[in-house]
This record gives sequence, C-alpha cells and structure tokens, in this order.
Amino acid sequence: MTLAEAVPADDHGHSEPAAPAQAAPAPQAEAVVDLDAIAHNVRILRDSARDAAMMAVVKADGYNHGAVPVARAALAAGASELGVTTVSEALTLRRAGIDAPVLAWLHTVDADFAPAIAAGVELGVSSPRHLAAVVAAARSVGTTAIVTIKVDTGLNRNGVAPDELAQVLVDLARAQAEGSVRLRGIFSHLAHADEPHHAWIDSQRDRLVGAIADAKRQGLVPEVVHLSNSAATLTRPDLRFDMVRPGIAIYGLSPVPELGQFGLRPAMTLRSRVALVKKVAAGEGVSYGHQWVAPRDTTVALLPFGYADGLPRSLSGRFEVQLGSERRPGIGRVCMDQVVVDLGPDGGGVREGDTAVFFGNGDLGEPNAQAWADELDTIHYEVVTGVRGRTVRSYVGGTGT
Ligand SMILES: *Cc1c(COP(=O)(O)O)cnc(C)c1O
Repeated sequence: MTLAEAVPADDHGHSEPAAPAQAAPAPQAEAVVDLDAIAHNVRILRDSARDAAMMAVVKADGYNHGAVPVARAALAAGASELGVTTVSEALTLRRAGIDAPVLAWLHTVDADFAPAIAAGVELGVSSPRHLAAVVAAARSVGTTAIVTIKVDTGLNRNGVAPDELAQVLVDLARAQAEGSVRLRGIFSHLAHADEPHHAWIDSQRDRLVGAIADAKRQGLVPEVVHLSNSAATLTRPDLRFDMVRPGIAIYGLSPVPELGQFGLRPAMTLRSRVALVKKVAAGEGVSYGHQWVAPRDTTVALLPFGYADGLPRSLSGRFEVQLGSERRPGIGRVCMDQVVVDLGPDGGGVREGDTAVFFGNGDLGEPNAQAWADELDTIHYEVVTGVRGRTVRSYVGGTGT
C-alpha cells in the first residue's frame, strides 16, 4: 500500500464550474516531502562518489517518500540510474514516463519478467533458475533482456551463491551469444557497511573482484560494477567502482549516525493537526488504561494520529511533538486513531487546528526520525517506511516536473 497523495489545487481532474475559492483545510495527518532536500542530498552523495555514476535507490515507494517524485528529483540533481526491488516497482516508474535505466533485483523464479523486458527494465539475477526464467521470457517477448548479476559476496541473502556462480556465468555467456540477454552489470551488497572499518567490507570487495574476473574468463565484461550503499558511498570512497547505489542518504537520514549527519537534510516531515483542546483535572487518567494520570490541573491537545497511521504504540509516553513554539510530551497510550499531548496548566496558547510536528529536519525544533528510532530500538529506515494509514503525502520544493 502506498500513501494517499494530496491532489494539487490546480488539478481537480473534473470540469464542473469551480466552487467559490476556499482553500481546502490541511489534512489531519500529513507527510510532507521536501524535494529540494532530496536534490541537496543527491548532490552530497555525488560529491562523495566523485567520477562514479549514481543509482538512486527508490524501492519501497522511495522509502515511503514517493518513488516517482523522488526519482525525478534525484535524476534532475545528478543521479543517472534508479534501483528498485521488484518488477512491479520498476514498471511504476516506466508508467510515469521515467526512461532512465532502472534495475530491479529481487524476484521469485515465477515472476512475470516479460513486461519488464519489454519496458527495458534491467533485471538482477541471483541463480541459474532466475536466469533461465529471464531467458525464456526474453525469447517469448522477442527482445534482448538486460541483466545484471547480483553476486552474494558474504551477506548470504539475495544474490548468486558461490557454488552457483560458475553455472550462472556459463548459462549467461550462452544466452548472450544467442542474443536473448545482454550483461549490463555485476553488483553486490555489503553486510557491515555501517561499520566502515569492518574487515568483512574488504572481504566482500575481494570476492566481488574475484567474481568479475570469473566473468571475464567466460568472455563476459560488465559495463558497470557497483557495491556501495549510502554508508559505503559516504565513508569508503575506495569502493565506488563504476557506480554507487545509495538509498537512505537520499532521504536525508544518516547511514552512520555515530559519524554525524554528513550535511544531509531529512526530507520527510510528519505532522498532524490538533483536533481538540481540553482541560483535564488533577488525578484524572488519560487514554486507555489510564497509564498517565494528571499530576496537576492541566490542558491537553488531541492529535488525530495513531498506530494505524504509523505512530508505534510502543512509543506511548515516550515521544514529544513540536507544537506552538515548544516540545510537548505525548501522554498515555497511543491508540489506533489518536494520541494526547500535555500542554501544561495554561495550555501554552495552543489552539484547535494548530500543527504538531512528530519528526522532521529539526528546523522548527522538532525531533528527527532518528529520535524515534533510538526510542524504539530500531533504525530510521523502519520509522519513515512505517508511516501509513490515513496520512496524506504532499510535496514542497522541486522543479515542478
Ligand atoms: C536497499 C538497498 C540499497 C540502498 O541501501 P541504503 O542503506 O538505503 O543506502 C542498495 N543496494 C541494495 C541491494 C539494497 O537492497
């Protein structure tokens, strides 16, 4: 499921006479994506990549920021290729009119490769069975499939296992000779990229270099070799090969938080609007189970945003929002549809309709996605991809393409 997107004010998609001009109210909950931040982050990554090309990873609907607008912004800012997980994600980009090279790398063997081949989507192959399925689809479509070998160099997840690499190379050489496939690239993915000095990084590089040599012995010469995700792009310039393949850093989240922010700007701001302001007397409990009991007479604000929208229930009583000019604590249980924050005895001037920011780039004093991740004992990747439900996504910045 992808987030609903706000319809631009000038694009109602119908031709009835316009109603008297009246701005639509802002949605109850909104994920605002700053496309200028995306462009800024791409430029930072490009600087690190030096002369290597850059594939912008826009899988999982652009880490939940919207694959198509992010892809356009990234391409305009200097990325030259796009990476996604599935054929379906790749075809979404093609349907939007994006004709840059797109690589999709994770498939079941019975995936429908034909539309991808017809659309010129590059397919990552991870076994002789996957290659055979791609070759069969290419023959049926009557078009040469563009393939990239995903080599497993030690992550032991997706990718060609060491004991199957020779078979993949033999089959690929044969298929390339008959014209059903063309080898575009060879790539691999690191297990310890966020620990820049880990010995496994060098082992995986050496195994990748070995796989390229094996391919060359079969007469297979890749056009592009790539290994580096965001962390490696920013911390291990020696691993850039022909292209880097960052994801999370494009969205402005640091791939190695212990080493700082690398100048990246978080692109997503998650916010909600105050539905109700009310007084709660000292000794009254708030929300299910009365886990929070007012220690004094106070004023609270109700936000129509709950765990169905991506505010984890386990953050109950453990997060803050920026509301008015201050940080305010979330109190009591996070419910499916709503949560309460404490405004203090005087209410702090907060009014119904005001905007509360859960996380963003910090410009307003709000927390960032990393703060949630720390509290939840997870990573910010899971925080931003977990925004869902009734949240409406909208965009600021960008070139308007
Ligand atoms: C997700 C992914 C990336 C991007 O990783 P980040 O850590 O987000 O930069 C790169 N390559 C592969 C194969 C991936 O699955």
